[in-house]
Amino acid sequence: MPSNSIDSLLHETRRFAPTAEFSAQTGASADLYKAAKEDRLEFWADKAREYVHWHKPFTETLDWSTPPFAKWFADGELNVAYNCLDRHVLAGNGDRVAIHWEGEPGDNRRITYAELTAEVKRAANAMAALGVGQGDVVAIYMPLIPEAIIAMLATVRLGAAHSVVFGGYSAESLRSRIDDASATLVVTADGGWRKGKVFPLKAAVDAALATGESTVKNVLVVKRGDNDVQWTEGRDLWWHDQVEAADPEHEAQGFPAENPLFVLYTSGTTGKPKGILHTSGGYLTQAAFTHKNVFDLKPETDVYWCTADVGWITGHSYVTYGPLANGATQVLYEGTPDTPNQGRWWEIIQKYGVSIFYTAPTAIRSFMKAGRQIPEQYDLRSIRVLGSVGEPINPEAWIWYRNVIGAGTAPIVDTWWQTETGAIMVSGLPGLTTLKPGAAQVTIPGIKIDILGEDGTRVDPPNGGLLVVSEPWPAMLRGIWGDPERFKETYWSKFPQLDSPKYFAGDGAHVDEDGDIWLLGRVDDVMNVSGHRLSTTEIESALVSNHIVAEAAVVGAADEATGQAVVAFVIIKSNQESAQTAAEASALLRQHVVKEIGAIARPRDIFIVSELPKTRSGKIMRRLLQDVAEGREIGDTTTLADTTVMQIISDKLK
Ligand code: ATP
Ligand code: MG
Repeated sequence: MPSNSIDSLLHETRRFAPTAEFSAQTGASADLYKAAKEDRLEFWADKAREYVHWHKPFTETLDWSTPPFAKWFADGELNVAYNCLDRHVLAGNGDRVAIHWEGEPGDNRRITYAELTAEVKRAANAMAALGVGQGDVVAIYMPLIPEAIIAMLATVRLGAAHSVVFGGYSAESLRSRIDDASATLVVTADGGWRKGKVFPLKAAVDAALATGESTVKNVLVVKRGDNDVQWTEGRDLWWHDQVEAADPEHEAQGFPAENPLFVLYTSGTTGKPKGILHTSGGYLTQAAFTHKNVFDLKPETDVYWCTADVGWITGHSYVTYGPLANGATQVLYEGTPDTPNQGRWWEIIQKYGVSIFYTAPTAIRSFMKAGRQIPEQYDLRSIRVLGSVGEPINPEAWIWYRNVIGAGTAPIVDTWWQTETGAIMVSGLPGLTTLKPGAAQVTIPGIKIDILGEDGTRVDPPNGGLLVVSEPWPAMLRGIWGDPERFKETYWSKFPQLDSPKYFAGDGAHVDEDGDIWLLGRVDDVMNVSGHRLSTTEIESALVSNHIVAEAAVVGAADEATGQAVVAFVIIKSNQESAQTAAEASALLRQHVVKEIGAIARPRDIFIVSELPKTRSGKIMRRLLQDVAEGREIGDTTTLADTTVMQIISDKLK
């Protein structure tokens, strides 16, 4: 066994072929793979013409003459907002609902494409009056209300770029992102609703701008929370005053395909967030193409709901740009899944007849913990496609999702991608792919991925290695904002010995006999136990496959005998909590892992906990658990959702 590969030991043999009924109606066909294989660049050029309206058509597809800096469709011009708005109205679809918005307290708004277009035109005029134009950056710090999307689209309509900062981040995080991109305008709200209360946002903007010189000239404030706000005359303006007074006409101008569209920071799961730059034409092409085909979208009849906040890449590509470019009808929900009751999401699906539902494994596992009796109270029969993103989905969570939310029949697309990739890179296509729970499986047509060992040679099944993207792709990041050296160093320097530069994603994966891809977790998290390199994902999935477990996180901790030892942190399902003592549960689960994977993966310690440390986007931060397991001081926790959980966990271990 080559020492540079990851041992892949979990055997998942369940298979789910698409139903004949689903396959008969799907919009995607195997011809997509065929066309992409025949001529990859021509395939993407075709998709760019099919999915995007060009103000000026492009004549070159890819310029890769100075890698790793790519240009796609570089001599073409487009307006991204026009693509998401005006063209649908001009095509006669102005009356179609673009957004069914649901506020946390139960208020709601229904916004058609015609209305959304009109509102974005006014907002664009209002922002232009404040001096925003091409080359500028607008920071957006908002609750999940329609104005967040309107502000994004108004910004890019003017050829400016946005930097959306998740509304749950602190004043310091906001300030560092404002400074990093030299934003001149901040769009925010007085406050937003979360867990039954108004949380202030404007106050955080004030705090962020309180000290030192800042590039920010104005702050536009949407009235949402009706909470009291402080006002800085000359700087602060109410959104409604400015936007209502603005000219309703605004003609969208074309901008170069490589015009910056946005900068967005990674989730910070593995360290300090990186400011990722995306541009216009290639990004929109891949976002729209994948949104249509991965979800089998029928814009005339589907009601689509992606639960991500616009503060994350999923909210950029699969709430704002992909769905709106495709003229989809979507649900947008402001609040948390458990307010005012644990059935809130299912109630929303029932109310709007959601047919395509896209969420994260962390949410699915928290519903598993609470129990199926909650979703079972609602009518979820409208659902026909389910999606997962953000982390590997454990096979047991996959099965639960399909059975309890998808009536045992809905295909699940497990979509692997990153802030950096801009759009989905690996996912089955419903209606075409025979699904395997826990595997993201198939590269998207036109995407080239390889699994390599540390030495840059291809790893053979069933061993795992490093996932790399071998050819440039349309939605690829164009850089780290203001730091080309860090860009090269972080993503393109792993395999200097290879002829052509490869993008190193930081994730481990293996390919099975059918050529399907299974993600094995972060390469940084791989454990080395007695010379075996073990995947966190597989051991966690083995733990979650036991009926008492809702969620698990596994880390490698220094061990005198084995180099590293497996240490697991486990959350028990609500209805199992009193069934056995912690010691009994640990013993049972240790045996269970041996049975599922083998003695090599037997956890040295299993700690029963009630929470796990997660980023604000819901991903497990294993490096903090490793700090605890090895008795070190806990590292950078700035993107942690709940900073008290680390204290509780480390107290428990003392
Ligand atoms: P940082 O780069 O700052 O550590 P992050 O990697 O969490 O943060 P994102 O871009 O939000 O930031 O997440 C991308 C990562 O999420 C991927 O590299 C992968 O580890 C994980 N991921 C996303 N989707 C999947 C999936 N379907 N299966 C497995 N892993 C996934
Ligand atoms: Mg990352």
